[in-house]
Amino acid sequence: MTCTVQHFGSISGGKDSQAVLCKMVERIDRKGLEAFGNLAPRFLAADNGHENPITLDHIAYLDDWLRKRVGLHIEIVSANDVPGLTDEAAFARKRAMLREEWSKEKRRTRHKGACNSRRAAWRAGTIMKAEWIAGCDCPVLVSPPVPDNLIERALELLHPTGIPFLDMAMLHGRFPGTKTRFCTEQTKLIPMMHRKRPLLDAGLSVIDWIGERADESPARAKKPPIQLVRHPSGARQVLYRPIFRWSAADAFAISERHGLRHNPLYTMGMSRVGCSTCIMVRKRELRMWAMRFPAEVDRVREWERLVSLVSRRTAIAGTPASLLPAPTVPGDPADHGRATIDKAIEWSRTGRGGRNYDLFLDLEQREADEHGLFCDSEYGLCE
Ligand code: SF4
Repeated sequence: MTCTVQHFGSISGGKDSQAVLCKMVERIDRKGLEAFGNLAPRFLAADNGHENPITLDHIAYLDDWLRKRVGLHIEIVSANDVPGLTDEAAFARKRAMLREEWSKEKRRTRHKGACNSRRAAWRAGTIMKAEWIAGCDCPVLVSPPVPDNLIERALELLHPTGIPFLDMAMLHGRFPGTKTRFCTEQTKLIPMMHRKRPLLDAGLSVIDWIGERADESPARAKKPPIQLVRHPSGARQVLYRPIFRWSAADAFAISERHGLRHNPLYTMGMSRVGCSTCIMVRKRELRMWAMRFPAEVDRVREWERLVSLVSRRTAIAGTPASLLPAPTVPGDPADHGRATIDKAIEWSRTGRGGRNYDLFLDLEQREADEHGLFCDSEYGLCE
């Protein structure tokens, strides 16, 4: 009998994907590898070069456990494996485009207020484009041609560093934003899909075991526990969320049943353990991250400097780029509302309203300096 299904587990180093890993191992315990058909399940984790080293160590720990427990392993995927994504060919395209565009004047209309509503009406097909444009008297921003020395400096920098997250930001000429979250897609989803695509193209169906729970956010709650995607080859891709109705406590509990430790970042005050730091980090977590990982802060500061040199706006202005987008931290209104990592950390150490240093925060910092950092998990792991 030919097998037509390949199961995949996505491992992020967080508690939810770890819970799914445990569920898959439990299924093997009950029914053997045959429970997954003729093909043993595969496990994928993406390393985008912006992960916290503790998370990478934790994935290595899970890999070791999985090998010993059922003889399977976790495959590490990277955007660097995908042709044309962050490789020399992608940078060659970017260099050619930058040479062409930066040497010319750039005009951009900043549509505002009622004009934005008319544009939305045109996009929705309720008015004609000419009608929208005729009523537009919005300001036109004119960016003069970029001086040759800045173009030459950007061209020299535009070569792969081998770090997917940084390379992706350099290719975009900016860091991702909350509405343009290309980091997840380009450094995680596409590299994982790159491993699945040949199977789907060959007509093999794929079942993705995903660690998403409804109570994480209203957006997640709207997702179905089982979702079907059809590929042109006729193959099916099933997105299966086996812990959809679970609480965070349930997710921690299954790992404990298997004697597995949790990602140590949870006991350091982090509620999420992905990138270091995520562009959508919370104020409190930003403060903890900066306190615990000064070397990571230095790395992000250097990335902000590098990305600023290949971004038209910041290269001309001579200002750093900002990893954190405007909705995450209040920034400088003169700089599109963005704040550099140092300004964002300064803000994270202020009390409500972002103005005064809180006495409690001051005490927390002194405690950390004098006695080391204390355990303060948001999940009640530390008693
Ligand atoms: S964890 Fe945050 S920064 Fe990292 S890929 Fe996801 S959204 Fe982007």
